Amino acid sequence: MKRAIISDIHGNLEALQAVLEDIDRQRVDAIACLGDVVGYGPNPCECVKLVRDRCTLVLLGNHDQGALFDPDGFNSGAERAIRWTRMQLELHDRLPRNARAMLTDFLGELPRTHTEGDLMFVHGSARRPLDEYVFPEDIYDPLKMSHIFELVGRYCFQGHTHIPGVFTTGPEFLSPTVSKGDAEAVIDMPTHKAMVNVGSVGQPRDGDNRACYAILEDDRRVRFRRVEYPFTITARKIHDIADLDNFLGDRLEKGR
Ligand code: ZN
Repeated sequence: MKRAIISDIHGNLEALQAVLEDIDRQRVDAIACLGDVVGYGPNPCECVKLVRDRCTLVLLGNHDQGALFDPDGFNSGAERAIRWTRMQLELHDRLPRNARAMLTDFLGELPRTHTEGDLMFVHGSARRPLDEYVFPEDIYDPLKMSHIFELVGRYCFQGHTHIPGVFTTGPEFLSPTVSKGDAEAVIDMPTHKAMVNVGSVGQPRDGDNRACYAILEDDRRVRFRRVEYPFTITARKIHDIADLDNFLGDRLEKGR
């Protein structure tokens, strides 16, 4: 069994298309999306449609929720982006020809967690699926890590921080650095428990500007793949939209 797991697309259509093309070449059995399909990026509607069409499992992220309900706990730039995103979704849904493809209905019905045997899928963490961050430096907070690990059957797949890697119960953080000429880094899964952050498709923040996603193979190893995409096109679109801070476009080149 081979499953691709994507997360944090954030309305970046160029990155999503490049990742889906890469996934097609990997011949996976299923695609799961861990949320934040929208927010920050210039193509929320197109990304929701693609994810809806291509993924067998889609979870709700905090930005998706913010775009549907009242944005809460976001900084002012993110909140402005979320309000703009909501307007795009509502404009789409208001057009009569789109009545059968209501994007807000689709997002509004997404679950926050999904469990399959001893595998768990969330946006944030097993403890607070929608909005808890588990950062690499949290390995120095063993209490936090052990509390969250108590809720994990075997493996928990998550996103939200935009930083890919594997957390062991050690606790340790295994970072999948992919050098420039390579397309992937492979990490063998610990036999006990692990949390796997699959990284971000549309706004990587680990210093590598390539889109990131993960493939879980036979529940034994994870391949973290990096995919180049034309980020200058996405950045230009962001710069052209007044409600999206220029910074949101500039950071795509840096992968920060
Ligand atoms: Zn996100």
